[in-house]
Amino acid sequence: MGTMSRFECTKCDYDVTAPERISIGMHAVIEPQSCNICKEIVCVTIGYYGQVISYKDMTFDEKVDAHCCPECHNMDLSEWDDNQKCPKCSEKMIMDENGGTLCWD
Ligand SMILES: [Zn+2]
Ligand SMILES: [Zn+2]
Repeated sequence: MGTMSRFECTKCDYDVTAPERISIGMHAVIEPQSCNICKEIVCVTIGYYGQVISYKDMTFDEKVDAHCCPECHNMDLSEWDDNQKCPKCSEKMIMDENGGTLCWD
C-alpha cells in the first residue's frame, strides 16, 4: 500500500501531497517528479505490479499513462526525490511532520 506525505516549500506558499520517493501500490509503482511544463510535483507511474519498468520495456497500453506527467502528458520531467526542490522557486521543500500520511491506493 502506498502512502503520501505533505511537503511544503520553505520559501513560497507552494505545497504538495506526494510520496517521499518511489512508492509501490496495488497496481502502479509511482515516483514523485517535477514537471517542467506544469511547474508542479506530480506522481509519475514508472512501473506496474511492484516492478519498475523502463519506458521501452512497457507495452503500448502501459506506456499511455506511464513515464509522463499525469496532468499534461509531457515527458519533460526532473528527478525530485533527491533534492526536493520547489518547482515554483527552487527552494528546498520539507515534509510537514504534522500533515500525516495518506494512502493513495
Ligand atoms: Zn517555493
Ligand atoms: Zn505536466
